[in-house]
Amino acid sequence: MRQSQLFSKTERNAPKDEATINAQLLARAGFVSKLMAGAYSYLPLGLRVLNNIENIVREEMNAVGGQEILMPIIHPKSIWATTGGWDKIDVLFKIKSRTEKEYALGQSEEEVVTPLVMKYVNTYKDLPRAVYQINWKFRDELRSKSGLLRGVEFLMKDMYSFHETQADFERFYAEVKKAYFRVYERMGLVAKATEASGGAFTQKVSYEFMVLTDAGEDDILYCDVCDFCVNAEIAKEKEGGQCTRCGKGTLAKARASEVGNVFDLGQKFAKDFDVTYTDKEGKKQHPIMGCFGIGISRAMGVVVEKFHDEKGIIWPEAVAPFRVHLLALGGADGAHIYDSLQKAGVQVLYDDREMSAGEKFAEADLIGIPWRIVVSPKVGDGKVEVKRRTEKEPRIMDVKEALELIKK
Ligand code: ATP
Ligand code: MG
Repeated sequence: MRQSQLFSKTERNAPKDEATINAQLLARAGFVSKLMAGAYSYLPLGLRVLNNIENIVREEMNAVGGQEILMPIIHPKSIWATTGGWDKIDVLFKIKSRTEKEYALGQSEEEVVTPLVMKYVNTYKDLPRAVYQINWKFRDELRSKSGLLRGVEFLMKDMYSFHETQADFERFYAEVKKAYFRVYERMGLVAKATEASGGAFTQKVSYEFMVLTDAGEDDILYCDVCDFCVNAEIAKEKEGGQCTRCGKGTLAKARASEVGNVFDLGQKFAKDFDVTYTDKEGKKQHPIMGCFGIGISRAMGVVVEKFHDEKGIIWPEAVAPFRVHLLALGGADGAHIYDSLQKAGVQVLYDDREMSAGEKFAEADLIGIPWRIVVSPKVGDGKVEVKRRTEKEPRIMDVKEALELIKK
């Protein structure tokens, strides 16, 4: 894409009404624009990042057998009344139509997915099943002050699984846990899995996936030797105490952001909607369900919290909006390099605008694309300057050599 055509622009100063680094940098660099607290427009650069994260999640959920669907966001009151959520869930947005009919906006979609999937599950032979969607969720959050980390509207991957037995849920959970770690790793994040208590409905276990960051809103205790980790809010363990799992390590406390969550739903929703399948003995049974969430837009914010410096964002390659930022300086023409990169399937943002080198460099650092290539009369004919966002000094090389390096 030619930057001269990009409708969004960077801003020199951070918006005054944003307190967190992710919100400040994403707004300044032209990735998002705030409509109100907790609701952002995703601009061309921002949407590319969101789509990249979405695709990583999609690939890994498909790999564990998840089947992608898309469910409505607007729901009839009746399904939320059936589960008790209409009165009990404080973040549920409720809407009244002009004919006085009442609706809810999806904040999680067990109410839709349970009858939907069970419509097609007749016998034990139809189990297990896992379906997921990647869709916007709406929650009446009280404090939306952390940029993409806490939206009133946010993008979530929500997967729901259906099983004959608790053991089968546990088996699937173990598989999904590995897939979650792959998702976070591909995004450049290191996540820890905690064990915590259930949510509004269930006394059963939930597992949270946490990334250490001061911008997060959770406190965790984790072992410095094994992978034991708990949410500090509910834990009987104490900071500095001995690890209750391995007995060797010490528990450290850290601020973290929850980038994913798994709920063991038991038979709660299947019983509420009285949906059953026929087991091997011909008896009617309620399936056991699991709910597996990943905060996709929150993860984008967390990536920025983790990867930035005083100049701007430093995108990990897998989620970057473009792989290369090509800068033409001093009237030089980068069109041929732009074309060859594009032909090679490399995503390039081509800064073809007439601006000073200093301004272009500052913008490139702010936007944070992994590779920077500069063409200019100073570098010379047939040569370019190549620098990774993480490197201090550029290297001068032949165009051909640069193209080989980037394509690798
Ligand atoms: P939190 O404790 O942060 O409010 P939650 O337990 O309410 O999270 P879930 O209902 O499990 O979250 O939702 C699944 C995932 O969606 C979370 O792990 C998180 O990554 C993301 N998420 C939840 N609420 C928000 C929000 N308001 N804004 C952005 N992402 C969110
Ligand atoms: Mg919440």
